Amino acid sequence: MAEEAFASDGRSIDSQWSQICSQLKMEFGGTAFDSWLKPLTVGDFNNGIMNICAPTAFMKNWVVTHYSDRINKIWEQQNPSVKKINFIVQTGFADRRSVDTSLLKKISSTPTPQNIYGCNINSSSFGLVAGASLANDSAKNNNLATPLNPNYTFENFVVGKTNEFACAAAKKVAEAKNVPFNPLFLYSSVGLGKTHLMHSIIWHIKKNDPTRNVIYLTAEQFVYKFVKALRYKDTAAFKEQFRSVDVLMVDDFQFMGNKGTTQEEFFHTFSSLVEEGKQVIISADKSPTDLDGIEERLKSRLVGGLVVDIMPTDFDLRMGILQKKAELMGIELPQKVAEFLAQKITSNVRELEGSLKRVAAHSQLLSGKEITLDMTQDVLKDMLRSIDRKTTIDEIQKKVAEHFNISVKELQSSRRARTVARPRQVAMYLAKQLTSRSLPEIGRKFDRDHTTVMHAVRKVEELIIEDQNLAEDIEILRRTLEN
Ligand code: ADP
Ligand code: MG
Repeated sequence: MAEEAFASDGRSIDSQWSQICSQLKMEFGGTAFDSWLKPLTVGDFNNGIMNICAPTAFMKNWVVTHYSDRINKIWEQQNPSVKKINFIVQTGFADRRSVDTSLLKKISSTPTPQNIYGCNINSSSFGLVAGASLANDSAKNNNLATPLNPNYTFENFVVGKTNEFACAAAKKVAEAKNVPFNPLFLYSSVGLGKTHLMHSIIWHIKKNDPTRNVIYLTAEQFVYKFVKALRYKDTAAFKEQFRSVDVLMVDDFQFMGNKGTTQEEFFHTFSSLVEEGKQVIISADKSPTDLDGIEERLKSRLVGGLVVDIMPTDFDLRMGILQKKAELMGIELPQKVAEFLAQKITSNVRELEGSLKRVAAHSQLLSGKEITLDMTQDVLKDMLRSIDRKTTIDEIQKKVAEHFNISVKELQSSRRARTVARPRQVAMYLAKQLTSRSLPEIGRKFDRDHTTVMHAVRKVEELIIEDQNLAEDIEILRRTLEN
């Protein structure tokens, strides 16, 4: 192993990793840890870049989305010579098989709800997605199974103004004997409870009508399974499996991707289920019309049912969620600390919950030391610092509009008069400079496409050189926004 692989205190990378694993387990809980983090292994470490290997692409993506920030942070603290972490898929069929088999052993030996992998729910048992010949080759099918979270129930879902409609729609679908709307399409940005609601529907159905055959999977798993079926010339079994369900639930539909044949297969599966009066439930990070790379005919089918969004949380909802989560974790959360967290961590519930878990883990480490505001600020200081530094596009629009004496509406409008167009370009320029948003994302905030933003950025860059007044305006705005 390379020289840098040792921390300053001489511990090897392997022992650092096992310590990191203990911390991750404490923060994310045993179920999540066993499902997603335990299968990871440490790979090469060179020039400050650490490779962490996942057994499948799906697992890698999941870890990158859900855990990479935290893993990066802990490594950084453990060993400053680790500058960057690369998550990779470990190639080599032998390795992959060994992970699959261990997952499988676990599934068959622990049929308790906490350990469910894969979610074909039928009368006899929870189990893996089963389909005639597909089920025969376990290693090729089951490495993508998704654990069903026992805490993601309607009882544990806190309802507020921003999610009540989505929750009501999910309950309606879960309780209905006849399909009330088809499909139910739930969308929101990340961490606002889509997966929680999807799992709640399954738990509800399982409890009240266990004979219903439900398949729950992510779009990525659907793609993977279909591609495998094609490769193993097993498409008949694949079709049979998906078209014989009562309820089909596809999470994170944005990952259906541009795959032509897979999308076509999904379209036919979807149409056939809807025609037969079977319920389809889909979640995504965008509305059907805004989804990239999805065929028009599929989009128009997706809007044919009920499309519901979950809006960002408000303060009251965040307070409610913190109280609920603290209760579930069995910790005493002082009102002051809850208010502090609810005020500071506003972007998504996953982060809010993550911060609570970190504080709780810290208190447990110190033998149940009381959670205080001081301790909270100390434990979360890196997170809070980066939140404080984050400038949003909304804020930029507001400050720029104020500065140039126009309204935010005008700034976002299609008016081309110079008095409005110039501030608009400045706002786009600042959004590019001060946030990590992409050009299309910035464009959407102004109801424009990315080429307009690109043009605005270039234009302002040119103008700053010639126009002293504008350069000063921008400098003032930058300072106000960065403070
Ligand atoms: P999404 O699928 O939209 O990215 P998740 O369903 O994974 O979000 O939610 C992220 C975390 O936030 C989960 O732990 C979930 O339990 C929690 N969460 C989100 N909304 C609520 C809510 N209204 N009540 C309780 N927990 C919530
Ligand atoms: Mg989700």
